[in-house]
Amino acid sequence: MEKELLFSDLGISAEILRAVEDMGYTHPSTIQAQSIPFLLEGKDVIGQAQTGTGKTAAFGIPIIDQVDPSLNKPQALILCPTRELAVQVEGEIVKLAKHKKGVSSTCIYGGEQIDRQIRSLKKGVQIVVGTPGRIMDHMNRRTLNLDNVGIIILDEADEMLDMGFRDDIETILSSMPEERQTVFFSATMAKPILDLTRKYQDNPEIVKVLRKELTVENIAQHYYEVKPSLKMELMTRLMNINQYALSVVFCNTKRATDEVTEGLIARGIQAEALHGDLSQAQRTKVMNKFRKGHCTVLVATDVAARGIDVDNVEAVFNYDLPLDEENYVHRIGRTGRAGKSGTAINFITGRKDGFRLRDLEKFIKTSIQKMTPPSADELV
Ligand code: ADP
Ligand code: MG
Repeated sequence: MEKELLFSDLGISAEILRAVEDMGYTHPSTIQAQSIPFLLEGKDVIGQAQTGTGKTAAFGIPIIDQVDPSLNKPQALILCPTRELAVQVEGEIVKLAKHKKGVSSTCIYGGEQIDRQIRSLKKGVQIVVGTPGRIMDHMNRRTLNLDNVGIIILDEADEMLDMGFRDDIETILSSMPEERQTVFFSATMAKPILDLTRKYQDNPEIVKVLRKELTVENIAQHYYEVKPSLKMELMTRLMNINQYALSVVFCNTKRATDEVTEGLIARGIQAEALHGDLSQAQRTKVMNKFRKGHCTVLVATDVAARGIDVDNVEAVFNYDLPLDEENYVHRIGRTGRAGKSGTAINFITGRKDGFRLRDLEKFIKTSIQKMTPPSADELV
């Protein structure tokens, strides 16, 4: 066994050590322990680790320790694929920077009135977190100046490329000072990302956290064979028996998320749908409700739920099996976060699903356990 590292071994400031203690983090996660020292040395980094492994603090900590609090200009830029993630990442930065005097951040994303964002940028912040489209918008309006930005993070880079942000990202990277740190964090490292890293990074350090260290280790993975017409019945039965604090149900289409949400509500379960058709205000409202436990089930599509970090999600239901393996890992990573345990439940409704399940097992190198549906009298 390697000696277990402490945050105090990583060369970070006393102020941040106090902040992580306040946050209840006792030890750095593997991706944090491995990438923070490189980032503090000023190196370019490619960090690959699954969701829930603590990537935010892995780049947040070195950024906070490196920016100059006496210079009230953007010095670090963090790009995120969605508004929710940007808000979440900035929230973590605020907590980590709590004891660092003079370090401030702001969050910039589409769907919100631009005036507040312009005001916060004018006030002078060192750390800017945002979505690529809106960042570009501010660059074009000259309300965001990148001349002093010494470090750029592409968080969930795979997701940003999937969402079509490649051109925006390239424009942003090309408008930045040459003398800078360029950092990619991603759960996966497909070729399009590697192409970008080759073009924009300088001799990067590659930090890869292997699959065996994933949080999927503390997620029990189950499947039930069930007729399509009985799926809803079975799911509500499992929810009622197990009384999960919070759960997330995944569907493959927006239509299915609405139908499943209605079905759950009709059976007395407080459910809310989260998908791409909702306005920003509606999405924020749904996420806040869920986070506070005012609704206990979130029904979502893959894109809507990617990266959402809510503690206390005790179960993930794949109402529809995901269409690709990466999404399976992303989905079940919504539970079992921060060292807690969780359950992932899959519904198999035919031969095709059976084959997909075998593919998933091969991909995650773990077997998914077959379960027998509970009988009606187990419902008390
Ligand atoms: P990722 O970006 O890899 O998906 P996050 O940065 O969102 O992961 O972190 C996942 C969860 O783990 C969050 O709830 C975060 O507060 C928590 N976390 C991060 N680092 C640590 C740590 N060192 N110890 C305990 N919990 C941590
Ligand atoms: Mg993340």
